[in-house]
Amino acid sequence: MTKDQYTFQNPVTRYPSISPPEQDQPEPGLDRDLVPQTDRGEHSYRGTGRLTGRKALITGADSGIGAAVAIAYAREGADVALSYLPEEEVDAQDVVRIIRACGQIAVPLPGDIASAEAARSLVAAAAQQLGGLDIVVNNAGKQISVDNLEDLSDEQFESTFTTNIFAIFWITKAALPHLPVGATIINTTSVQAYNPSPNLIDYAATKAAINNLTKGLAQQLAPRGIRVNAVAPGPFWTPLQVSDGQPKEKLPTFGKNTPLGRAGQPTELAPAYVFLASPESSYVLGETLNVNGGTPTP
Ligand code: NAD
Ligand code: MG
Repeated sequence: MTKDQYTFQNPVTRYPSISPPEQDQPEPGLDRDLVPQTDRGEHSYRGTGRLTGRKALITGADSGIGAAVAIAYAREGADVALSYLPEEEVDAQDVVRIIRACGQIAVPLPGDIASAEAARSLVAAAAQQLGGLDIVVNNAGKQISVDNLEDLSDEQFESTFTTNIFAIFWITKAALPHLPVGATIINTTSVQAYNPSPNLIDYAATKAAINNLTKGLAQQLAPRGIRVNAVAPGPFWTPLQVSDGQPKEKLPTFGKNTPLGRAGQPTELAPAYVFLASPESSYVLGETLNVNGGTPTP
């Protein structure tokens, strides 16, 4: 029998404690070229109908965490629109293939969500091609490590905020007219929201902002029957880390300082996003679900 997320097993050894070789990819990185490869759930995520008939838009769905969420949502019975950058077509097509193999609809929607117009068109296209929209996962993100403030350019500071926080505002606002009662919005924040690394000043600040926006908007939309929550990953092995997200020399020890002693694999995050999307979490609003290998959080 193949192991899946319901197999009783040791969380320490469910996946090996990887020591990735130093490597570098241009931004945005590709899962295709990542060493070692990751588990996004193709052979390890088992669905049980928890999102049957739902229609989801997921940003950054081509790779890493977003890909794992897209695969899990399809296995749970949802149709999925995937947002990603045009350079990531090869990764996106792989996820599209897996979703279609589940018998679900996959709508690939390449584009740059750092443009307000593109972000709004993305939502319109997703709603039109899925025939509605009732889950929005704001997961796309930009993370570029810079050691010294003097070297952090105005352009990078602005573009990190545009991608990580402005796009959430544009996409969520454009999605609202489509969202029925019962719909859910899930934002990807980070352990960096509470424990900022000194080399991720701009990135960590956006993640704190996402946490705060999630808690405020959850209160605003609660009376309308729309729930907003967030997931805060710890260290997960994804292309973000090798496209200047971390200093290269830190890659071999990535994630080893967590209580579990290893980096997470993207599919280990998927159940959190499934739970928050599903009606089973009906009384959970404004929550940040930490999935981080055991690092204490506020
Ligand atoms: P990833 O590189 O696989 O995913 C990030 C995605 O963001 C890219 O695939 C890309 O499609 C999308 N993106 C970036 N800029 C974009 C733009 N301008 N327009 C459209 N799409 C754009 O890496 P990941 O680690 O899976 O990241 C997903 C989310 O998880 C991010 O928000 C990241 O900050 C967050 N996160 C990751 C970790 C980790 O350790 N990997 C930890 C905490 C939080
Ligand atoms: Mg990608």
